[in-house]
Amino acid sequence: MLGERALEPMIQITDLSYAYPDGRRALDGVSVAVSPGEKVAIVGPNGAGKSTLLLHLNGTLRADGKGRVEVAGLEVTARTVRAVRAKVGLVFQDPDDQLFSTTVFEDVAFGPLHLDCPEDEVRERVRRALSAVGMAGHEGQMPHHLSLGERKRIAIATVLAMDPEILVLDEPSSGLDPRARRSLIALLRDMPQTTLVATHDMRLVWDLCPRTVILDRGQVAADGPTIDLLLDEATMERHGLETPAVSAPFYDRSRPAQALSPCHRRSG
Ligand code: ADP
Repeated sequence: MLGERALEPMIQITDLSYAYPDGRRALDGVSVAVSPGEKVAIVGPNGAGKSTLLLHLNGTLRADGKGRVEVAGLEVTARTVRAVRAKVGLVFQDPDDQLFSTTVFEDVAFGPLHLDCPEDEVRERVRRALSAVGMAGHEGQMPHHLSLGERKRIAIATVLAMDPEILVLDEPSSGLDPRARRSLIALLRDMPQTTLVATHDMRLVWDLCPRTVILDRGQVAADGPTIDLLLDEATMERHGLETPAVSAPFYDRSRPAQALSPCHRRSG
């Protein structure tokens, strides 16, 4: 039974279209399937529909008639939204949209408390989540006294405390200095969860995600290995994107892809 589940996509988006109440069409026939454990980047110009797509994964927005979204074997509907949110951890671009308590502990404990976990388990989940993001020992601090990089880590811990099967992140590296950015990438690379990242940060895509989906005008314009898409200048330019600077000095088609980045090495 478990074996069969492992073969099924962890995320299955089928022919999803979505228009906002003002009539603006944000998604138009999007189909994407993501396997368990995959890390996939969603890239595209502003207004391409990336955030709208992410909001469908935890049921904040729902397919309105046309299309279907399934996560961890559950169809996302009004009826399943609570169960869906326990499986899909959505991390917003701005951690201040996610952190609202007076202490780090309360913020990270909030989700498990709402799952009606007993007190001991809440404490254990907070401990595990903070240690996973390298923030053990900060339980008593006020989130707004922490740096942006630390607040981003706590925001990730708030969703890890729910034990999600899927992590969905919107622009995780925005605003971070190079060191905080590198350590965030290393952290996300070690997470076992199926991960979807919407971002403009092509270095992050390169280092974290073996697969990339290009979204443009609400449609999937390309879907394939990051190493191919990001170095395809014509495709990148056509969709308002830039190839990452890393490619020029290090890329050499004659060498195996595994030599290019730790991320590709791990997945190979
Ligand atoms: P991206 O994340 O790729 O920048 P979005 O998903 O935010 O794209 O937006 C896709 C399209 O939907 C854009 O045309 C945007 O203007 C529109 N849009 C986004 N949010 C709303 C909203 N709340 N109401 C109306 N239109 C919206």
